[in-house]
Amino acid sequence: MKIQNYINGEFVNPIQNNWIDNYNPAIGEVYGQIPSSTKEDVQKAYEAAQKAFPTWSNTTLDKRSKILSKIADLILEKLDFLAEAESKDNGKPISLAKQVDIPRAASNFRFFANAITQFSSEAHESVGLNAVNFTLRQPIGVVGCISPWNLPLYLFTWKIAPAIAAGNCVVAKPSEITPMTAFLLGQICTEAGLPKGVLNIVHGLGTSTGQAIVAHPKIKAISFTGGTKTGAHIASVAAPMFKKLSLELGGKNPNIIFADCDYDKMLATTVRSSFANQGQICLCGSRIFVEEKIYDKFKKDFIKKVAELKVGNPSEESTNIGALVSKEHLEKVKRYIDLAENEGGKILFGGDKVAVKECEQGYYLQPTIIEVFDNKCSLNQEEIFGPVVTIMSFKTDEEALSLANDVKYGLSSTLWTNNLNRTMQFSKQLHTGIVWVNTWMLRDLRTPFGGQKDSGVGREGGFEALRFFTEPKNICIQYE
Ligand code: NAD
Repeated sequence: MKIQNYINGEFVNPIQNNWIDNYNPAIGEVYGQIPSSTKEDVQKAYEAAQKAFPTWSNTTLDKRSKILSKIADLILEKLDFLAEAESKDNGKPISLAKQVDIPRAASNFRFFANAITQFSSEAHESVGLNAVNFTLRQPIGVVGCISPWNLPLYLFTWKIAPAIAAGNCVVAKPSEITPMTAFLLGQICTEAGLPKGVLNIVHGLGTSTGQAIVAHPKIKAISFTGGTKTGAHIASVAAPMFKKLSLELGGKNPNIIFADCDYDKMLATTVRSSFANQGQICLCGSRIFVEEKIYDKFKKDFIKKVAELKVGNPSEESTNIGALVSKEHLEKVKRYIDLAENEGGKILFGGDKVAVKECEQGYYLQPTIIEVFDNKCSLNQEEIFGPVVTIMSFKTDEEALSLANDVKYGLSSTLWTNNLNRTMQFSKQLHTGIVWVNTWMLRDLRTPFGGQKDSGVGREGGFEALRFFTEPKNICIQYE
């Protein structure tokens, strides 16, 4: 099948008529083509967005809110269909797509449909100067949204929903590896009555289509989620044009386990935080640090639980671990596993490719646990972004904190303990944008989301997202 660009409310071919093959990672076969869009396509999308902006930015909040809610309703109505498309495109288990990815895409629209009606600006009285100040929060204009392949519709809509709720018009690009649900979203937006040009979706490679969005002089803000290296490149292109940037980048998140935790809950959650979505979530706890007292017990129990996970065809409901997203990514993850012994580590479980029945050409890997003894090894310092975790023991709180912080990334951390003082000390001293205590990936959409250090700049979520997608303007009035 051919996926087309969605520009000015219509599905169109790329101007130069060049196409890129799209693979189903579960079977390793081509199942469609996407446009290889150029800067001419991006320009066309920009022009449609620019034309729609005066009307959309003056559309009442009530009307914008109703359209966003309708999009949420339609996503839920088509949940099974969208989940199947997501699973086929990305290789993720169908159960995950049904329970997490697609419901969350609907929640993104529902949340910002409500949030925009609650978003208020501030007023300040300049006492003694007979003056009042108030702040207008105005939409920016045409903004760019660029998203990765790991949670395709979930992350695409996490950007688009606040951008359009705030009155902007959007030129958006999903990952070229997982374009399918973004394509289907175009149809949903038309059905929901989103006016033409408010959302424009262009497909293609990062280095051409993505680059054209970032380099476009009139696209004034870029919301990007993806790799740290790409984020740095985007920042360098955007800086001379003084674009507003939100960068959500890579992670290498510590999962710190103390002996005084609720052990069973910790164990079950750690299996999930290690291997959900084949470990391809920026928030996965890929470095596990365990207090020495329970280290041997944890090792044994963790291996046992991980051995129960079923690696299999993503379209089967019983599958826990599906296919990795692409052949190239599988090879990259495998190269890290192969480093283990050279780096002084020991593979405790997994490490090999898996041949899944009737999906022999698919990209499957065993969930892999590697014991490491040196936090400086590349397995503990670099983002692998696959079904691979390392484990290491520690003796004291100070040691655990220092191991956790000794990495260039700072997205999230998880702490398992029932000690309140320790909870507070770690919460304050961990260098990450998110700290989960006795849980993982529990998301309240009102909270700020984002990373420190090389994990990003800026915050998404709640009013933070609406602040990003609006320009504050102070009005100062003096009176007699
Ligand atoms: P990527 O950086 O390769 O690509 C992300 C998106 O950027 C894609 O749409 C791609 O086409 C586009 N792109 C690539 N080069 C570009 C360029 N020069 N200009 C403009 N756009 C360009 O990342 P990926 O491999 O798709 O995703 C995996 C990465 O995303 C991991 O590092 C992961 O940690 C990160 N991620 C972060 C978060 C977060 O919230 N912090 C969430 C999910 C994924």
